[in-house]
Amino acid sequence: MKLTSAREQRFSGYPVSPGIGIGPVHEAAEPELLISTKKLSPDEVPAELMRLEEALARSRHQLQKLKNRLAALPEDSQAEISPLLDVYLHMLGPSRLLRGIRTRMQEALLCPEAAVQAEAEAQAEAILAQPGNDRQSRARRAEEVRELSRRILRNLTRQPFRSFTNLAQGCILAAQFLRPADAALIQPSRFAGIITTEGGADGHTAVMLRALGLPAVLGVDGVLETAAAGSLAIIDGETGEIVLNPAKASLEAARKKLSAQTRARRALAQLQHLPAQTRDGVAVELQANLELPFELPMIAESGAHGIGLLRSEFMFMNREVAPDEDTQTRIYQDIVEAMDGDPVTIRVLDWGSDKEVEALSRYLPEAPEPNPALGLRGVRLLRRHPALLETQLAAILRAGAAGPVRIMLPMVSVAAELQATRDILRKVWRRLKRRGERMAERLPPLGIMVETPAAALAAAHLARHADFFAIGTNDLTMYTLAADRSLPAGMKLYDPLEPVVLRLIRLTTEAARTADIPVSICGELASRPQATPLLLGLGIRQLSMHGNAIPRVKQVIRANTLTNCEVLAAAALAAESANDVREILAAVM
Ligand code: PEP
Ligand code: MG
Repeated sequence: MKLTSAREQRFSGYPVSPGIGIGPVHEAAEPELLISTKKLSPDEVPAELMRLEEALARSRHQLQKLKNRLAALPEDSQAEISPLLDVYLHMLGPSRLLRGIRTRMQEALLCPEAAVQAEAEAQAEAILAQPGNDRQSRARRAEEVRELSRRILRNLTRQPFRSFTNLAQGCILAAQFLRPADAALIQPSRFAGIITTEGGADGHTAVMLRALGLPAVLGVDGVLETAAAGSLAIIDGETGEIVLNPAKASLEAARKKLSAQTRARRALAQLQHLPAQTRDGVAVELQANLELPFELPMIAESGAHGIGLLRSEFMFMNREVAPDEDTQTRIYQDIVEAMDGDPVTIRVLDWGSDKEVEALSRYLPEAPEPNPALGLRGVRLLRRHPALLETQLAAILRAGAAGPVRIMLPMVSVAAELQATRDILRKVWRRLKRRGERMAERLPPLGIMVETPAAALAAAHLARHADFFAIGTNDLTMYTLAADRSLPAGMKLYDPLEPVVLRLIRLTTEAARTADIPVSICGELASRPQATPLLLGLGIRQLSMHGNAIPRVKQVIRANTLTNCEVLAAAALAAESANDVREILAAVM
């Protein structure tokens, strides 16, 4: 950081976590890591292996300590950070990474530092070179391996980690880059905001900073070179703007925005126990999506009535073999019990395409599919491996003894997929009865995700076979517009507000109403308050979303009437483009 004149200057970056922060900027610089690459003689190997084991033990101990410290963080930060620490701890167990490091030491006679660096790099490169179209997830996994190797190297060489504790209370933390594990070390109450010069909007670090609830802007060019240590700055985590050495007027405007945000946050907190009901008395059920069991306490506090989408993929991740029936039963049971009588909708494994599940990779086709998103995914893949499906259904049926559960199938396109699964479900039920297992009194409802245009167009037919619908707007948008959902924001084609997508939602809600079955939305669109009146107008009365989003969506429901929502939906259905729909929505917000 350099000393410059105190003239107001503006910078911008990726806004990753909303909120206004005002404070002096202080840089947390990372000490450089110096590595020796010396070769070992064979008789040095045992002692050097011991040194490696000590560094691994220290790394495990540090990560465990970090995990214990998580309890002090907000619930949703815990939900983001804890699984990542588990990934690191898993890699420090009997993993391919550690096997590879030891082999390099024993066979290539590399010193531990060189072996760690070479093996981690080789594995990260192998992950990046894997086939499949989920580049983002591969980049994240590769970064996890590299990040863990840096921790082991610091412990091997006894070189210090970056510390955030010596920075002034209330300052804006500035850094060239932050790793996810760095983010885990940040005490949110100590800082007014976070700025980095590197990093993008969708990485792990961004996700974690969002969970910490601190205003954060990443990828801000030039700010570190310009700001003198301790110079005052304003950070706006919503617009991505940084104002360095703000003039009096800028400071006043920021203070006003900050107090408006504080008032809005307080108002939202008061909504928790109020009903989600429109001004003309139409009740809406708000449920939570659950991806990891760590989210349960946050969901309980969010005012959610049950879980509308439990993505069961987490149980199959970061492990070498799939969990057996008893293990799965215990996991579901814990969740069902925690929801205390509110229903839990468990979606059977949605795997294939961009959803890679390590424990099941041997079940996937040997040759990469030319179009994975259009190939073996979700229920299609499960039907090829009935033993996996039967184990999961058995575990869900057994968890049904602890409270209400619903079973949901992903990626359904034709009724035969549902009918075949229902036959399997009945067979598993009979088998468990013969075994004398405890289950719910009756077979749980079996419903489907409506996330392909085929399912939406055939909704009237499918509604005769399904006990409920849940519209997955993420995939429904992708398949309707033939535009990948993980495309960067600049690629505008993927947009759930396109009127064609809204028409498919409408077809689905009408079919559900005629057949008198429940229909919800559990895609990301459900968590966008701007879209809430539109979705109510399209006939939706159940929404399932990330627990954090519930208060804001509830606030919007309580501010609208069904009549105005229906007028809005009619206009949106008749619109020509997503931009027109956005304008219609903006006019009523
Ligand atoms: C969806 O597609 O909208 C959905 C909820 O499922 P996922 O995001 O898990 O594919
Ligand atoms: Mg989906």
